[in-house]
Amino acid sequence: MLKEIIDKFYSDRERDREQHRFYITDAGKCGRAVFFKFKNVPREKMTPEVLRMFDHGDYVQMQILNTLFSLGVVRASEINIPPQEMISGRADAIITLNNELYVVDFKSMNSMIFQKLEAAKEENINQIQLYLHFFKIPKGILLYMNKNTSQLKEFVINYDPLRCQKLLNDLAQIKAKIEGDIVPLRLPDYPDNWQCRYCQFKDICRSAGEKEIGWESFKSKIQKLEI
Ligand code: SF4
Repeated sequence: MLKEIIDKFYSDRERDREQHRFYITDAGKCGRAVFFKFKNVPREKMTPEVLRMFDHGDYVQMQILNTLFSLGVVRASEINIPPQEMISGRADAIITLNNELYVVDFKSMNSMIFQKLEAAKEENINQIQLYLHFFKIPKGILLYMNKNTSQLKEFVINYDPLRCQKLLNDLAQIKAKIEGDIVPLRLPDYPDNWQCRYCQFKDICRSAGEKEIGWESFKSKIQKLEI
C-alpha cells in the first residue's frame, strides 16, 4: 500500500538521474565509474532504503544549517560554485568566524563509522578543496555528524592549490576519455579499493577487464548480454 508507493517514488527518482557534467563529488573518484555514469551504463539499483538514508542525511544537514543561521554566522547557504565549463557543485554554507570566511561542508554518518573517524575523509577533502578553489576562500571546515547520537566532529582544511590542480587535471583527462569513447583503466587496487566495494558498476567493470578499451565495441557487447 503506502510503503510500495513511497518505494516507487524513490526508485523513479533514481532512474531519472542522468549525468551530463562533472559534479564536485566526482573529483578524485574512479575515472572508469565516472565514465560509466556519463555513458548511462545500466547500474546496480540502489534500494529505496538506501535512498531514504541519503534523504535522512539531508535533513540532518538542514538541522545544522538552521543552528548556524540562529548563531548569525551564515553568509550564504546552498551556494553554487561560480559557473565555468567543466564542473558544477553546491557548497552547504559559507560562514564567518572571528572575521574569517570558511566554506562549510556537512557530512552525516552512522555511529560505527563516526566513532572510527580520526581525520577528515580523503574524498571529502577533495570536495571541499575544490569549493575553496572556486570560491577563492582559503579555509574550510568539514563538519561530521553522528546520525544516531547527534555528536559532532570538525576538521579545518586549508586550501591546497597543488591538490586542486591535480584534481582538475584528472577530471580533464576523464573528460577526454568520455569524448574519445575510451573506457578508462580499472583502479590499480581493484577490487579492494573502497570505491569498488560500493560501486554500482562492479559487474560491468569486471567484464571490461583491467585495460582501457573502446567504448563502442564494449557497448555492443553489453547490449547483447542484456538481450
Ligand atoms: S569496480 Fe572499482 S575500478 Fe571498477 S568502475 Fe567501480 S570503482 Fe572503478
